[in-house]
Amino acid sequence: MKWLYRCPQCGATYPIEPGRYLCDTCSRSNKPGMPLEGVLECVWEGTPVLHDDDIPLPVEREFFPPVPVGNTPLWAPARLREDLGRNKLWLKDDTCNPSGSYKDRASWLVSAFARKFGIHEIALASTGNAASSMSCIGAAAGQKITVFLPKSAPVAKRIQVLQYGAELREVDGTYDVAFDQSLAYSNETGVLSRNTAYNPLTIEGKKTGSFEIVRDLAIQGGGEPDHVFVPTGDGVIIAGVIKGFEDLVKLGRISKMPKVWAAQAEGSSAIARALAAGSFEFLPSNTIADSISVDVPRNGSFALEKLKRHHGGAVAVSDKEILDAQVYLSRATGLFAEPSSACAFAGFLKVQHEIPIDDTVVIMLTGSGLKDIKSAAAAVGARL
Ligand SMILES: *Cc1c(COP(=O)(O)O)cnc(C)c1O
Repeated sequence: MKWLYRCPQCGATYPIEPGRYLCDTCSRSNKPGMPLEGVLECVWEGTPVLHDDDIPLPVEREFFPPVPVGNTPLWAPARLREDLGRNKLWLKDDTCNPSGSYKDRASWLVSAFARKFGIHEIALASTGNAASSMSCIGAAAGQKITVFLPKSAPVAKRIQVLQYGAELREVDGTYDVAFDQSLAYSNETGVLSRNTAYNPLTIEGKKTGSFEIVRDLAIQGGGEPDHVFVPTGDGVIIAGVIKGFEDLVKLGRISKMPKVWAAQAEGSSAIARALAAGSFEFLPSNTIADSISVDVPRNGSFALEKLKRHHGGAVAVSDKEILDAQVYLSRATGLFAEPSSACAFAGFLKVQHEIPIDDTVVIMLTGSGLKDIKSAAAAVGARL
């Protein structure tokens, strides 16, 4: 089995090695303030030698840093099931990752890649969770992490970065400014970039959740997933999750693709609007769900293509619907998720009348509620 990067736009292939990020040809059309073109995909050639539930990944297992990422619980929320009359509803609880978010899956693979090639520093821009995640995994691996973070990032995420000992460069501006500054830094210094979508391993790392869902549904007698709800901002998690199901079909572990839904905040819904309209239109984002608040989805083109190909869905919900869903989820299940994740649940609540009652539905809860307590506090009438 041999791993390569392939450009889904033109089909060009490249070796998976340091310094390679985008497709040389297709990235020429990149413009500032637009989704990235030429985002590469990890593919394998030949027959993979795998045992039972192994996840095919482009970096060998021995390089993964010693920290327990993934294998998060997939569980049946009994009281919520009863309340909604849905016996096939499941929660994938990625708040249980070491730094408290789904981002650890990508950081883990990027860190392993750096270890394999003897790279000691990784830089990235983030709205918060990617930074706290990479800092966490970097601490476990003994790597230097340099983070470009907008000053407006939630305080808990900033404190995580400092606790884990990463170098914090606060940016006076938006995530887009931080993105450009971090790229300039990695280009000048030759440090590995973990910028989301730009580094293809950030997408590939996020497919591992799909493999666990399929494995754990089978173990618990839940059959195959029919619908999966994913909170979506830049579109990296959803692209990785779809890629995971594509791999699972290819390996014969599931018989069909589930319908994957992009759940977005109304105030940051570029991908949902593009799926409906056929092309992108950008508006300044405005939502309390900071992890999915993006003006321009960096992985928008790649994610949209995957959603279209597999008949994915999209749903946009208001901030009020997000906060109501957050409280409902906490009280009906005992799982306190951050607003971005509550958005996935709110999206499901909004479209559930379209979904047959016996379909198997998985809600991906990607971040802990403790990461951003400001809006959560307001939702329960508490003052900070
Ligand atoms: C980053 C993030 C998302 C959204 O992922 P994208 O790849 O930007 O679409 C959702 N939930 C949480 C908790 C996140 O940190």
